[in-house]
Amino acid sequence: MDHKPQFPFFDVSRQFGPLKSQVLEKFAELLEKQSFVLGETVTRFEKDMAEWIGVKHAITVANGTDSLTVAIRALGIGHGDEVITTPFSFFASTGSIMLNGATPIFVDIEPKTYNIDPALIEKAITKKTKAILPVHLYGQCADMDAILAIAKKHNLFVIEDFAQSIGATYKGKQAGTMGNVGCTSFYPTKNLGGAGEGGLISTNDDQLAEKIKMIRVHGSGRRYIHEVLGTNSRMNALQVAYLQVKLPHLKSWMASRQKIADRYMSELRPLTDRGLVLPTIQEGRNHVWNQFVVRVPHREELQKKLLALGVPTDVYYPLTIPQQKVLRGVSAETGWLEAEKAAKVVMALPIFPELKKEEQDLVIQALHKTLTQES
Ligand SMILES: *Cc1c(COP(=O)(O)O)cnc(C)c1O
Repeated sequence: MDHKPQFPFFDVSRQFGPLKSQVLEKFAELLEKQSFVLGETVTRFEKDMAEWIGVKHAITVANGTDSLTVAIRALGIGHGDEVITTPFSFFASTGSIMLNGATPIFVDIEPKTYNIDPALIEKAITKKTKAILPVHLYGQCADMDAILAIAKKHNLFVIEDFAQSIGATYKGKQAGTMGNVGCTSFYPTKNLGGAGEGGLISTNDDQLAEKIKMIRVHGSGRRYIHEVLGTNSRMNALQVAYLQVKLPHLKSWMASRQKIADRYMSELRPLTDRGLVLPTIQEGRNHVWNQFVVRVPHREELQKKLLALGVPTDVYYPLTIPQQKVLRGVSAETGWLEAEKAAKVVMALPIFPELKKEEQDLVIQALHKTLTQES
């Protein structure tokens, strides 16, 4: 029998509703001006974002993947170089390394945070290592003090992928401000989601910022003068205007996600006796809940039972990156035990700022029902 969820796993339209007239007004203005590429709207937004994140430079690019590929290119990383990264992430964190001709070197994750385990990084460093690329997965920062200390000792760059963690903090510092460069995405499912594709690079390094700005316009600082090899990666001004309307609400949306996470945490706690493992938030960090991910027994069976009760769930990610076909010949397929274990048992519950109280109730009740039935 085919079951349908009683509500969507994620629904952006609920966020758009109250902002619609404001967005349309901004769009009309830009359409009148026919100003879509860089220009005033984009510059203004980059200033606002830099201030929001707490960084000197915020540079918009076409999407989150480009934020990584452009940043890696700007650091001069390419053929023959190695970049240490996590095997458990959305593919872009590794794809961006490979697109620059460099080799990803995977280091296993900490089972509690699902982030790269700093204790294993030094063993992976070789003469070819140029950078460490931690991903702040699901909404919680990786262990940045440890990562930055290793990077300093071995003279490596740190590239933070904070696509899922805008606004997350580590010992009072914001994601995207701790490494040499931070890369994030405005894909609609992210915590600050646009009307399509968008990305942003953050840095405190003036020279690097200049290089990044050149790379997004074919390596050209002045018109038709090309100094380095770049690409075309700019965020459309309509997209920027949409995010400009949303940005003032981000803090309150973060609080709404937190409230839902708090409920899940307390009301699902009894199920830890039934094999459910709740997220762990490490000392000195917060969690911005791009995803609320639990470990569960008999995942596929449980997902079906939950769906039969109207509750949608999802899996981020069912395979580790080294297990992907495109990594053949680049990396061994297995050898990252914690990542491989996580890929088999993680399950994400619906969480977004506009998720209704009744919908949260349904998630909680359905999990109680299915998990207490099981044994
Ligand atoms: C979404 C995401 C990206 C890429 O962003 P796009 O805008 O989809 O290209 C990179 N890394 C992580 C961890 C992501 O979740």
